[in-house]
Amino acid sequence: MKDYIDERLDGLKLNECWDVHAHLLGVGDSNSGIYIKPPKGLSKPKEQIRQNLFKYFTKSTISPTDYSYLEYFGSCATEAFPGFKSLAFAFTAFHDSDGQPQQHLSDFIIPNEWSKFAAQKFNSLLYVASIHPNAENAIELLQQAKNDGAVAIKWLPCAHNINPSDKKYIPFYETLKKLKLPLITHAGSEHAVQGSQFDQSLGNPLHLRLPLECGVTVIVAHCATDGFDFDFEESHTQVPSYNLFARLMETKEYEGHIYADISATPQINRAKWLPQLLQREDWHHKLLNGSDYPLPAIPILFSLRWLATNGLISEKDVWKLNQIKKTNPLLFDFLLKRSLQYKGHKFSNQVFETRRIFDYENSN
Ligand SMILES: [Zn+2]
Repeated sequence: MKDYIDERLDGLKLNECWDVHAHLLGVGDSNSGIYIKPPKGLSKPKEQIRQNLFKYFTKSTISPTDYSYLEYFGSCATEAFPGFKSLAFAFTAFHDSDGQPQQHLSDFIIPNEWSKFAAQKFNSLLYVASIHPNAENAIELLQQAKNDGAVAIKWLPCAHNINPSDKKYIPFYETLKKLKLPLITHAGSEHAVQGSQFDQSLGNPLHLRLPLECGVTVIVAHCATDGFDFDFEESHTQVPSYNLFARLMETKEYEGHIYADISATPQINRAKWLPQLLQREDWHHKLLNGSDYPLPAIPILFSLRWLATNGLISEKDVWKLNQIKKTNPLLFDFLLKRSLQYKGHKFSNQVFETRRIFDYENSN
């Protein structure tokens, strides 16, 4: 197995390999402010599924806790390979238009302090704050996050109730630019987090023109590979969100500011776009590897068989990756991305050596 891993890592500057998209989660038992929507209204079997999922994320046979989730995530990152680090996302609350956090409309909340704590506890985890631009002290919070070592800011517009194209956010964007804090923001449909209040249209990639025009470094999560959005610029019809994302990637003025993460792209609901992403070698300097942890720990989301049948990985990969998945879902995800190929095209090393985007002073 070691030979296989070495072969897949060959040629990479390992210290530069940062996973740009991973989630902290919890059950809310640590008094840290972690919140997860109570199972009220969920039928018993569904709650059972939720409990079982958490056991995957914590590898524990006893009841999962906030700490056991963090321990397992942190140790997977540490043990993946020397130099590997994961960005560990905080996740702010749904905020109303007055800037008030609404816990009852949020699926889950991970306070910035918890991400900061995770990064202090594990060398292999990095602090990523999640700050709502409607919060009355949003600008101060950005400054604070930067001082505390945050390497980026995370949004999921439909879950947080943010329309990125709202002009009132210009001062927020100017601050992000000044502080050199990249904005990692979801685009396209969202299924993992869902609430009745969610407006999926907030994930329309075209809304990201405003932060891009303000000079913010924007990282479009998952290359918008899921869902459809209304093309209000050209065709005035619903089109795959990916097509609108591609339009942004093709906009010359955004070069140097626009990036996209390939997290979750091998999942069954997104994998159909992989041949395009692998073949777009002219994009590879703007594509960044991410795991979307804990999703790689969930067996049903990936079909290695489907990837092999479609010529995206080899039979040998199926066998080896299935073994690695049992012990380290983060390493599994990384090696899967390294194995992907389509008609001789692979993701270039730059896709994996992502530290340069966040740690421009120390990366090489
Ligand atoms: Zn995610």
